[in-house]
Amino acid sequence: MQLSQRVERSFRFDFFYNEEKCETVEGGIQKTTFICFNCQKTYKSQQTLRRHMYHECGQEPKYQCSFCSKKFKRRDQLQTHIQERHFR
Ligand SMILES: [Zn+2]
Ligand SMILES: [Zn+2]
Repeated sequence: MQLSQRVERSFRFDFFYNEEKCETVEGGIQKTTFICFNCQKTYKSQQTLRRHMYHECGQEPKYQCSFCSKKFKRRDQLQTHIQERHFR
């Protein structure tokens, strides 16, 4: 199997965005990964990376669990936590 990797850095400072696009060709199939510069999290689409950067990365967690005071960055994470930890 042939594996070649090409890393293309795109510095886009149009407001919030600071992203890295990584293209990997694996067995003839091209995969594109988007990486957050701040925390090195990887995403399959630019849209999800941007959502992460805009809503999660560098943001203070603002959703607090009323049962144990744990804080979350996203409402759905808080809901999952409550379901799994407090309603089982
Ligand atoms: Zn990040
Ligand atoms: Zn909790």
